Amino acid sequence: MNARSAESRGRQAPTTEGEVRPATWEMVSELRGARIPPVFPSICAASPRGLRSLPTMTTPISLLCDGCGQSASPAHFARRLQRLEWTTRYRPVHIQTLLLGGIAPEGDAAFLYCPEGNFQGEAAKLLDALRISREGKSAVLGEFQKRGLLLTHVLECPLEPGVKPSTAQQLIERQLPMVMARIRRSLKPKRVVLFSAEMAAVAGRFTESSLGSSVFSGPYGPWLLDSSAREGLMEGFREAAQRES
Ligand SMILES: [Zn+2]
Repeated sequence: MNARSAESRGRQAPTTEGEVRPATWEMVSELRGARIPPVFPSICAASPRGLRSLPTMTTPISLLCDGCGQSASPAHFARRLQRLEWTTRYRPVHIQTLLLGGIAPEGDAAFLYCPEGNFQGEAAKLLDALRISREGKSAVLGEFQKRGLLLTHVLECPLEPGVKPSTAQQLIERQLPMVMARIRRSLKPKRVVLFSAEMAAVAGRFTESSLGSSVFSGPYGPWLLDSSAREGLMEGFREAAQRES
């Protein structure tokens, strides 16, 4: 199983080895295609009260998304896989800098790797902070890749409607071990640069010893890429993201 296919699947279902077995599309199709053994008429007839269906038998099955830890509908999984595919197109072979934010933006236009439309929201702020031109989608993304940059988030999916900030922070906490393992074993960047306000509470957990990569934050915690940030701070962000060694 290659890294991409492993990342594009879900989690749950402990294996006999004590690890979690990927379980999204395969599990869904397994469940949909499951063959239920036929019930013999004699068994039904032998029950004086007839057979009852328990409430649990009609409860919809809810799978957690491996990218964000939220309960996921088929549409949620489809969107997750779509964004993974977009990102993979521009993933550098050797990642120099992993730009790690807290929560993926809601709109696709603000998602850096979306191939359609203009760069908006987080994508625009990030490119401006790095002083990368926003002209020409594929040229911009090619430049981003050429510089060895990869953008990802602890929660790789946007928050579902109605999720409170406190719940979002719990989701981030819950995803941390998986994200750290992914950085250490799969992405293996030279350095990790933390940004976004949602990362403030967990920034201290990202250390060189836990990731196997150098970790950079700003003087006041993870960099905030809003337009009010002082130019000196953004200079620090640029240097951290694009340093030579
Ligand atoms: Zn998700």
